[in-house]
Amino acid sequence: MKRVYLDNNATTPVDPEVMRTAAEAMELFGNPSSHYETGRKAKSIIDGARESVAAMIGADPDEILFTSCATESNNTVLRSFAREKSPCRIITTRIEHPAILATCDDLESMGTRVVRLPSNEEGGVSLADLEKALDEGADLVSAMMANNETGVMLPVAMMAEMARKRGAAFHTDAVQAAGKTKIDVRELGVDYLSISGHKMYAPKGIGVLYVRRGAFLHPLLTGGHQENGLRAGTENTPWIAAIGKAAEIASRTLEEESARIAGLRDRLEAGLLESIPRSYINGAAGKRVPNTLNISFDGIEGEAILYMLDHVGIEVSTGSACSSNSLNPSHVLNAMGISVERMHSSIRISLGKENTDEDVDYTLRNFPPVIARLRAISPFYK
Ligand code: PLP
Repeated sequence: MKRVYLDNNATTPVDPEVMRTAAEAMELFGNPSSHYETGRKAKSIIDGARESVAAMIGADPDEILFTSCATESNNTVLRSFAREKSPCRIITTRIEHPAILATCDDLESMGTRVVRLPSNEEGGVSLADLEKALDEGADLVSAMMANNETGVMLPVAMMAEMARKRGAAFHTDAVQAAGKTKIDVRELGVDYLSISGHKMYAPKGIGVLYVRRGAFLHPLLTGGHQENGLRAGTENTPWIAAIGKAAEIASRTLEEESARIAGLRDRLEAGLLESIPRSYINGAAGKRVPNTLNISFDGIEGEAILYMLDHVGIEVSTGSACSSNSLNPSHVLNAMGISVERMHSSIRISLGKENTDEDVDYTLRNFPPVIARLRAISPFYK
């Protein structure tokens, strides 16, 4: 049976070129801190990857830190501020990934003051709300660039400017934006930015933290002097090589691929809305990354849709991958004020570079009958 993978916001397949680069780097087993040739070879791989990642986001190589994942990148920034400022004041949003929200909860329990901006119906946040929160003082604002569940993009450049004017630093979790939309840290005016390898065709277990030159940072992990003393632990050379290659490919192909994927997403979205009555896009009014669509269907459960789609070879998710083990409705849709029924009937479809026109045709042929079958037996569909 054909399988169509439409869950690229959960994770992406590793690009074959990236896989080859990682395998080659694995043979260069040297410790990058060693001052002989075997070590120097490993170090030069890391230097090259740092340049590629920096180029992808308009940064300088010395502003790039390699971490183990975006969760670590986010934790490093937030915990750094909580440690430095006492009491620390952080402004974030209700639609962040748990890597931010759970960290804020933890810091709050230790005395940090956290303001969580509400979401509007479109899945974004209001600048007036940010202004009001900034009026009360803040050390750090952390707001995501694109939401993992709806794809809605926040006006990060404007938010960063507002924060800067009030003397607050700005961090953005750009995990769902990297490789999908252009990122230029200078244009955005951010101080810190997090990226994850496995959302951009590199393996799981490698992340990036951009730290603007001059911005302060306390290491989360202490130990050796790796990464300029900001992230201890012997560098994961193969995975760093991998994310470097993924960044290089993203820089090369971004414009063309984003337009192609947006075309596929828009055709899929229009086709589903047309062939399935009483279906609704969540976050449609906001500016979205090109690959994501979040859709609800009256009268049925998202979990049931997911299992039935799996039977016909279509792989999607409900809410974020991390919370899909629980039946709690999505905190993002909840923050957007979407009704409980619509939250429970929502699924997220996220396309990637392996998707083709045939995948969209297959999905448009096999998806609507699944909804019709579920509705036929649903006591909630009237
Ligand atoms: N931030 C966002 C917006 C995400 O979507 C994810 C993963 O789903 C993360 C952070 C966590 O990334 P990682 O798996 O690299 O820790």
